Amino acid sequence: MQTVSTLYINGQAVAGDRDAFPVINPATGDAFAHCPAASPEQVDDAVAAAGAAFKTFQYTPNAELKAMLHRIADLIDAHADELAQLVTLEQGKPLALAQMEVGAAAGWTRYTADLEIPVKVIEDSETRLAELHYKPLGVVGSITPWNWPLMIAVWHIMPALRTGNTVVSKPSSFTPFSTLKLVELINEVVPAGVINIVTGEGGIGRAMTQHADIRKIVFTGSTPTGQDIMRNAADNLKRLTLELGGNDAGIVLPGADLDRIAPALFQTAFINMGQTCAALKRLYVHESQYEDLCQRLAKIATEQVVGNGLEVDVTFGPVQNKAQLAIVAELVSDAKQQGARVLSGGDVQSGNGYFYPPTIVADVSNGVRLVDEEQFGPALPVVRYSDIDEAVAMANDNVNGLGASVWGEDVEQARSVAVRLESGTAWINNHSEVLPHCPFGGSKMSGIGVEFGEEGLLEYTQSQLLNISRG
Ligand code: NDP
Repeated sequence: MQTVSTLYINGQAVAGDRDAFPVINPATGDAFAHCPAASPEQVDDAVAAAGAAFKTFQYTPNAELKAMLHRIADLIDAHADELAQLVTLEQGKPLALAQMEVGAAAGWTRYTADLEIPVKVIEDSETRLAELHYKPLGVVGSITPWNWPLMIAVWHIMPALRTGNTVVSKPSSFTPFSTLKLVELINEVVPAGVINIVTGEGGIGRAMTQHADIRKIVFTGSTPTGQDIMRNAADNLKRLTLELGGNDAGIVLPGADLDRIAPALFQTAFINMGQTCAALKRLYVHESQYEDLCQRLAKIATEQVVGNGLEVDVTFGPVQNKAQLAIVAELVSDAKQQGARVLSGGDVQSGNGYFYPPTIVADVSNGVRLVDEEQFGPALPVVRYSDIDEAVAMANDNVNGLGASVWGEDVEQARSVAVRLESGTAWINNHSEVLPHCPFGGSKMSGIGVEFGEEGLLEYTQSQLLNISRG
């Protein structure tokens, strides 16, 4: 087992100053490679390189920036097999899902390439011409999690580059390799120092958030880490985009077509083994259809083929890391003690690897930890309700507010419920869907700011009003 990657600082592949650390394949529980570890001094080097590159990169013409991103997308496609293998090895998801992640990463890059940076005319009168321009910020620090490692790195890095910023990337120590490869590919396209990457457990992310020469942090991960980042960002008023935890509720209205919605509910709850910020994490079902829907979801759950994502026919991979597996197991076990009925799964699978089969938990309510806390894994609590106001109140009774959904045959009725939900996105007859042209972000403790679309792009800019007097 060897270090298979290097850091990239100022366009150069460099070794980490600290001892490389093992990265575990969650399907086997064994380390499959070592990752280089940067020192705090190398964080300084990366930020300095990005700062120096920004001096000229910020003036890159739009057409060139667009062309660069298109070339990066082509490189992602050209290395799709290698990237997908890396994602499955380090993250655990089935290879077909990893291939989708790589495809989406390329597609998102192309969409971002073609976004326009607007100039908004605020006033055009005899007195003045007032135009709002959007300029790059400087060095952007991207800190990413372990659930969709490649995709989320793309979500952070591409809009930063498209708007003329330079970047220091820090992937999760659980899943660093696909991002290291991505940054290597981007370095084939952009000038030296425009994209840098530092990896390392503990302290490297914080060194970035405390760095005086980083102008913005874009972070996806846990709420406590987001809060720590916000505190550290205060010193130089860093701009922040924080995409944090979710505990998304779904409400099934009476009379819903269960044949139609059961597969979609399962898919949107268990996407990526439930390790998705905007997965459906609590389901509220009217008492008239409660038992029927629970049984249907449990049937789909037991049909899954749980195993190593590299094996053909496996539809359901492991939980990404041991700590997350323990959280899921603890929350389900606590629900059982509170009298919940486990209809499928419900126990850690014995053997190596971090396997937990898809688990449907009935007869739970708000107040049980599995409902109140983000499980971020393959266990869905299903709660019974008898009237819609009660369901809305239970859905909103949570500190998080990322997404929410309403499922039913009457779309206007569903809409009237959806607008009452406290969430950054409200889906009707769907959940978890994120799109490159639709702003996505959280309310309440789920985050600050949005990603995607023009609104997301402009979070990587500083507005400047140009006021031309005509007096
Ligand atoms: P963290 O939020 O701790 O880690 C996410 C990223 O932040 C990693 O790159 C990590 O680096 C880095 N980081 C950790 N501490 C700091 C800090 N103080 N300052 C700056 N960067 C830091 O998530 P975990 O991996 O620990 O997962 C914990 C929980 O987060 C999960 O149980 C889940 O609920 C939630 N989560 C949410 C995700 C989402 O998409 N919203 C994604 C993943 C997890 P390093 O790996 O080196 O510690």
